Amino acid sequence: MKYDRIWNFNPGPAAVPLEVLEHVHENWFNYMETGMNIIEWSHRSREYDEIHNNTAAMVKKLFGLGDEYHVLFLQSGASLQFAMVPMNFLGWGKTADYINTGSWSEKAVKEAMLFGNVNIAFDGKEVNYTSLPKQYDLKLTEGAAYVHLTSNNTIKGTQFFDFPDTGDVPIIADMSSDILSHRFDPKPFGLFYAGAQKNLGPSGVTLIVIRDDMLQGANDGLTTMLSYSTHVEKNSLFNTPNTFGIFLMGRILQWIVDMGGLEAMEDRNRRKAELLYGFMDENSGFYRGTVDKDSRSWMNVCIRLPEEELEAKFVTEGKTAGFNGLKGHRSVGGIRVSMYNATPIEAIKDLVVFMKDFMAKNG
Ligand code: PMP
Repeated sequence: MKYDRIWNFNPGPAAVPLEVLEHVHENWFNYMETGMNIIEWSHRSREYDEIHNNTAAMVKKLFGLGDEYHVLFLQSGASLQFAMVPMNFLGWGKTADYINTGSWSEKAVKEAMLFGNVNIAFDGKEVNYTSLPKQYDLKLTEGAAYVHLTSNNTIKGTQFFDFPDTGDVPIIADMSSDILSHRFDPKPFGLFYAGAQKNLGPSGVTLIVIRDDMLQGANDGLTTMLSYSTHVEKNSLFNTPNTFGIFLMGRILQWIVDMGGLEAMEDRNRRKAELLYGFMDENSGFYRGTVDKDSRSWMNVCIRLPEEELEAKFVTEGKTAGFNGLKGHRSVGGIRVSMYNATPIEAIKDLVVFMKDFMAKNG
């Protein structure tokens, strides 16, 4: 493969489109005729300002967001959002509904409980996180401050495509592992966030989209850096942002635009998922999916083999054959194929050939 690259199925940080890496490489020493690398630019420079604002504008364009939405680029990952969300919107006497569909949701719940009442509207733990709730499974609170959910569960491999109907209560979503992977209607969302390191770029920058009315209801008296209002007012330039991370995000968003936008990403991801799950379903005696079919993720495909030793062998032999990152999360074991936007269908085609061969030898 070009530059001796391999197929990278890492769960995050994860594969970046080659075109983006090439652009960075070609412009490494002198970007936009400034005689400097972007890392060396001031975050107050005209050149950086253009990149910053263009990146935010592209986020809005790709999601089809109107003026009522603000785009923020913060740091400390999605994990800080687990705390910032309840810090800004919850409080004593207020209740937030949390849909618990995996360990990332659990972590969000843990933080929220420090700030107010948390109602677990659905507890996936009872079904070992193998399926997502249907509307009738949800026990929503009337007048809740918000409903929090994780749109894609990176570890267990489940993904929402139809979001719950929460009436007038805004949805707040952790979209870290499937942001910009398919189309959805953003209207019910008061806020969504994602650590960049899967579909948006390098780790160290977190994308947050927040609807204006959420700010009006937000708590006062918060520490400056942890208040969304600060960052909205200062356009994410209250302090030094991750300039290089935001630049790379901009290049990745441009790549998505060039590929045909969200619709094209959706088509690309659907085709990859159909190919891999289709193969697994034909060979389910050997490659067993771990979640219900109607909850399957297009981003993270979790697979078990008949024996744990075979799984270890699969991962090792896969690596030798040029497939990286196939080991399941340490908390669940097995195999996990993480195939975010940047992963082309060719990677899945090659993987399926390897899987066929592995099964013929070990099945
Ligand atoms: N939410 C989800 C769905 C994730 O997959 C991850 C990381 N894998 C996180 C949150 C935590 O993100 P961060 O490391 O950016 O804090």
